Amino acid sequence: MSEQTNLNDEELRRYARHISLPSFGMEGQERLKESSVLCIGAGGLGSPSAMYLAAAGVGRIGLVDMDEVDASNIQRQLLHGTDDIGRKKIESAKDTIHNINPNVQLDVYGDAFSPDNSITIAQGYDIIIDGTDNFPARYLVNDVAKILRIPNVYGSVFRFEGQVSVFAPHLDGPCYRCLFPDPPAPGAVPD
Ligand SMILES: [Zn+2]
Repeated sequence: MSEQTNLNDEELRRYARHISLPSFGMEGQERLKESSVLCIGAGGLGSPSAMYLAAAGVGRIGLVDMDEVDASNIQRQLLHGTDDIGRKKIESAKDTIHNINPNVQLDVYGDAFSPDNSITIAQGYDIIIDGTDNFPARYLVNDVAKILRIPNVYGSVFRFEGQVSVFAPHLDGPCYRCLFPDPPAPGAVPD
């Protein structure tokens, strides 16, 4: 055990199965604790992302969502439960994440991710997860990630199909706009 680890005794027990993994170990766990991820959306994609990142020990998680919990969300948006119907999603997310891992610093943003606030919110995060449910937000996430040179983890679901990718144009890869240059006409494709 390294003398200058940033992990306390509770964390060493909590992450024992990570720390015992060859080539992950203490160093990997320490790096997770020093890392930060911003989830845009606390819905069907943002919920499992944020919950697993919290459980795994990512030190700082940001969550952006302006919505309230609806009964129709709960079947897939695991951050929220039946008692949370009508609450702000960021509030029920706070409770869930804190219960999973109180060591995580959770920073919540209860406004829409917009051209006005997006750079300010996203600055300083290591990774952005695009868990948005509409095309304007999706293009905005792409553009902000590109401007700030932050990898953009993209996921989308429609019925029985899913897509996932990582865009890192600052590492010479394509971005979301390279794949889909033009947003679909409003109403042409379901959100
Ligand atoms: Zn591009």
